[in-house]
Amino acid sequence: MNRRQVEHGTVLDAIGNTPLIRVDGIWVKLEFLNPSGSIKARIAKYMIERAEAEGLLKPGDTIVEASSGNTGNALSMVAAVKGYRMLVVMPNGMSPERAAISRAFGAQVMTLGDFQVNDALAKARELGAQDGYFAPQQFDSEWNVEENRTWLGPEVLRQLPDGVLPDAVVGGVGTGGTIVGVGQAFRAVNPSCRVVAVEPNESCTLMCGEVGRHLIEGIADGFVPGIIARHRGEVDEMVAVDSEQAIAEMRRLAREFGLFVGPSSGAHLIAARELRERYPDAENVVTFFCDEGEKYLAEYYLD
Ligand code: PMP
Repeated sequence: MNRRQVEHGTVLDAIGNTPLIRVDGIWVKLEFLNPSGSIKARIAKYMIERAEAEGLLKPGDTIVEASSGNTGNALSMVAAVKGYRMLVVMPNGMSPERAAISRAFGAQVMTLGDFQVNDALAKARELGAQDGYFAPQQFDSEWNVEENRTWLGPEVLRQLPDGVLPDAVVGGVGTGGTIVGVGQAFRAVNPSCRVVAVEPNESCTLMCGEVGRHLIEGIADGFVPGIIARHRGEVDEMVAVDSEQAIAEMRRLAREFGLFVGPSSGAHLIAARELRERYPDAENVVTFFCDEGEKYLAEYYLD
C-alpha cells in the first residue's frame, strides 16, 4: 500500500513503504519516517500479528517487552491501536523521552537495573511466561528475522533501479534482526552480497567481547543477542565506529541533507562509506536511518 493511499485503515497501515534515497553514494532507507518514529514499527506490528494468528495473544492480554527505546515505543503504539495493555521494562539511565513516549501511547513503564538491558530482559521473560502475558522477545525471536526477510528486504529490492542488485547491507546490531533478515533477502537475489555489522568502538561486543558505555543508542546493548548467536555465520564482517564520530555525522546529516535522525544513522553511514572505500566494486551498499532526531533533542541538540 502506498502511504498516501491509507484512508480507511489505522496508523499501522502507514508502516513501511519508506523512501530509499542516495546519500554520499550509499542507498539509504528512511526508516525513521515510520509511525512511532523508527524502523521498529515493522517488527512490532509483525510480531504482534503473528502472535495473534498463532493464538499466543488474546484480547485482554498484556504485552511485555524489555526495550531501552524504539521497540518499546513501537509496541506501545501497536498495543494502543489493538487494545492490549503494554508493559515496557527499561534499564535505568535511559533518557526520559523514551519512557515518556511509551507512556503517551498508554503503556506502563517499569525501570530496573542499570544501563545494560539484562535485568529488564529477565523480568520480561519471567512475566511473559505467565498467563495473560505475551513477550515478543525481539532479541531472540525468529519472527524478527522473518519480518526483515519478507517485508523490509523485499521492499528495498523493489525500490532499487531496474537491474541493480545490492552488493552489501550495513547495519548496527541491536537484535541483529535487520542485517540478518535483510541479508537473507538480498542474498536470495545476489549470493555474494556482504552482510556487515556495525558496533560502537567503545562497546565492540561481537568483535572483541567488550562491553562499555557508548552513545549509539539502539545498538550494542551489552550482550550477544540470540539472533546473532544463531546466525553468526551469515555476518561477513564487522565495522567499529567511534560514538563521537557517529554523533558528529548525525549532526551533519541534518545540516547538509535535512535528515534529522539519531546516532545510529550517523554510525551506519560512516560504516557504509568505509566499506565502499575497501570494496570499490561494491557500488550498491544499502543501509538504514533507523530513528528520528526529536528523541535526542535534549542530549545533542539543545546547545
Ligand atoms: N538503530 C536504532 C536506532 C535502533 O533502535 C535499532 C534497534 N534496536 C537498530 C539500529 C538495530 O536494529 P536491529 O535490532 O534490527 O539490530
